[in-house]
Amino acid sequence: MSVSRRGFLGAGAVVVGGVVAADRLRFLGPLTTPGPQDAAGSAAAATAAVYRTGHSNNCDGACGHLVHVVDGRVTMIGPAQFATTTISGAPAPTFHPRICARGLSQISNTYSPDRIKYPYKRVGPRGSGKWQRISWDEATSLIAEKFTATQAQYGKTSVWIAPYTGSLSLIEGVVGAGFRFASVIGASAGDSQGDNQGDSATPAGWNYVLVDPENPDNGGGFFDGHESVDFLNAKAIVFWANNVAETSIPDWRIMCDARDRNGTQLISVDPRFTPTSAACDRWLPIRPGSDTALIDGLINYVITHKLYDADYIRSYTVGPYLVDPRTKKWLRADAVIPGAKPDYVVYDESDGTIKAAGDPSVRTPAILGTYPAGGVSAGTAMQALADMARRYTPAYVEKLTDVPAAQVVSLGQLWGTVKPFAVRVGFGLSHWYHGDLHMQALLTLQAITGNIGVHGGGVTTFAGGLTTTAFDLFNWWNPTGTPYTVLEPMQFCDAVTKGEPYPVRAAWFMVDNFAQQMADRNRVVKAMKQLDFCVVSDYVLSATADIADLVLPACTYLEKTDLLSSNNFYLQYMPKIVDPLFESKSDLDAIRMVAEKMGVGQYFDKTPDEYLKQLLRLGRAEVDPTVDGLTWERLTSEAVHLNTDPMPYVPFFDKQFRTKSGKIEFYVEMLVPYGQQVCEHQEPIEASPHNPLYKKYPLVFLSTHTRFRTHSQYVNLPWLKEINNGGNGFLEINPKDAGPRGIRDGDVVRVFNDRGEMKVYARLTEAIKPGVVNCYQGGWDTIKVKHYVAGHPNNLTHQIANPAQSVIPNFPSNAAYFDCLAQVERA
Ligand code: SF4
Repeated sequence: MSVSRRGFLGAGAVVVGGVVAADRLRFLGPLTTPGPQDAAGSAAAATAAVYRTGHSNNCDGACGHLVHVVDGRVTMIGPAQFATTTISGAPAPTFHPRICARGLSQISNTYSPDRIKYPYKRVGPRGSGKWQRISWDEATSLIAEKFTATQAQYGKTSVWIAPYTGSLSLIEGVVGAGFRFASVIGASAGDSQGDNQGDSATPAGWNYVLVDPENPDNGGGFFDGHESVDFLNAKAIVFWANNVAETSIPDWRIMCDARDRNGTQLISVDPRFTPTSAACDRWLPIRPGSDTALIDGLINYVITHKLYDADYIRSYTVGPYLVDPRTKKWLRADAVIPGAKPDYVVYDESDGTIKAAGDPSVRTPAILGTYPAGGVSAGTAMQALADMARRYTPAYVEKLTDVPAAQVVSLGQLWGTVKPFAVRVGFGLSHWYHGDLHMQALLTLQAITGNIGVHGGGVTTFAGGLTTTAFDLFNWWNPTGTPYTVLEPMQFCDAVTKGEPYPVRAAWFMVDNFAQQMADRNRVVKAMKQLDFCVVSDYVLSATADIADLVLPACTYLEKTDLLSSNNFYLQYMPKIVDPLFESKSDLDAIRMVAEKMGVGQYFDKTPDEYLKQLLRLGRAEVDPTVDGLTWERLTSEAVHLNTDPMPYVPFFDKQFRTKSGKIEFYVEMLVPYGQQVCEHQEPIEASPHNPLYKKYPLVFLSTHTRFRTHSQYVNLPWLKEINNGGNGFLEINPKDAGPRGIRDGDVVRVFNDRGEMKVYARLTEAIKPGVVNCYQGGWDTIKVKHYVAGHPNNLTHQIANPAQSVIPNFPSNAAYFDCLAQVERA
């Protein structure tokens, strides 16, 4: 049995509704210690309670929170336990309670003075920060009126709904009610494929190699990973562009346990000496964007030193299949073997003949070599890989990547001789024009060394994801049966400014700080200002809210009911723990009020619990064995582990690959038009010394994640500011780059390129390669709050999309945030 799940949900699309008045808190038990003392010194524990919930923000943690409430007010948040058995009662892997500083700070987030308290209507020019308080009734009437008028004038899809990854929960997050609303009013919406603004490239690479994305059953976006505790089974772990110690804090403990208890070797490949690098056995400071060149060098080493796993390649990959040298596509058995059925073709070394791959007489299909077949000399797919990789000698790889040749040899030797070997990648690897290629290359290396579908192996971006078959998402999104029209975030600007592919004139942003977090921000803001009507739901006045016509006060995760099913293998019920503060409402409630006024209120007339019961295929083994036996009572009483096999979960453990061939396709036929059938290195689209622009802008500009916020959330929280440079942003720059520019530590510098600029304090550090600068993304640049001195990293980034990813139907293109050049000077 395999778990069917996708972090990136490709199929169909959206809803909700909900009257949450009767939606009561889940009481798990009274505090065992006395409550706080009142002024007279008497105990006041009568209303004290503790609740379990999941933290649904878009980080890799998916921690459980234990929330202490006294007299209706949250007094403390701590880590919560996870169930020790699966739904069916089998022992679950030990998954320690976990929390980070951001989680602990959620009290201050909920009670922050920065909360938007009421609905507000813009009264000054757009972006002037002038607002007038209005009622919810007025606000929702205005939205209904504007959306109706816009759709009448410009067509249904001219209203764009943008719910994104501010929450990974089911009702209100990235797969939530916004999509259902878009569906029932016929609007367009962004896709539900996760953080599609920048994270689709590595999932694309995954799809090329491990999935047939054209098969609707695969949903065109399947993406998976090893359960985090499975890293304890690895003999070596390479963190490839993955600062897990900072960005997946709870999982870092598992990696350290692997190192300290089991002697697992840890390797960091990163242009920055990160907290993760510091705890690794070795650090390879790579030139940003040259990742595939290093992987090609490792592939070359493994092949030339015969360190590949021949049995695995024969059994589970397309390595032995012959390629037609004229077309670069598969040689077909029915074209070269008389009487054969359509099939792949192999050369059987046991008798020296060409045979259909499925011929039962095949004994030893050749892995390498070129053989006469159908009048041509056809090489195996593995030979095509070897031919490509041959030029990536250690010396050439050093030239391309800056990684010393000796390190290439050493890592190649390790990779070919130590097993199982795990790879953990972050979405940083995705933030490149060729991010898909990076993933394709890593999977290729893992395939030829026999490290896919085995405990302690694989290439994991995050552990687990949003279950698909466990939830009836299609009907949740599309209660009328008609999916919403997808307009990807990367299409937004052209839709507004040029009317392409169709006009968008009004938008509703929820759980999304689009105006700040989207690449090429100046262009995005300009487009947003051209909208006829713009609504933003949020709990703080974000940069996106700054340029809205209407802002709606949203709830935090403690004030509404939802379900978290992301980034691990637990389902975490999220009860409403305290009543919404001020006049804040859940997005579900806000949508319901608008929907009623647009005549579609019947699709939003249930409570969150009622919708969750509809969504969850509770206990229906025939639909998804991972939830077999699940009851609502169990779901709402503890964080249940899905029934996975194996345990801990490993994707493709059964070696049933969802590709056309049923094998790992490290030779990707559908990428022949792009010359990417094997994973040959290609230079970044912008951040390359071969780019003429490099003379003008010689620094690669990275904008990575920090442990002190989740994207743009929590920037304002005093507890986090205290431990994060007072909340001031900074630019990491190597002294070798700073010196010639006359830049000293603490100077304000101007970072710029042709798209825009920002000003920020310089932090001189040797923990970043010369030629590379880094500014943690997500800081606020709002009317009231300047996290940086001025501007934002996304003033410099771009939206150049890689067309290769379009081979996957309905898959979003990727903003290559890190594939960016800039110059730095003293301000
Ligand atoms: S921010 Fe992430 S790591 Fe921190 S408590 Fe929340 S879910 Fe866990």
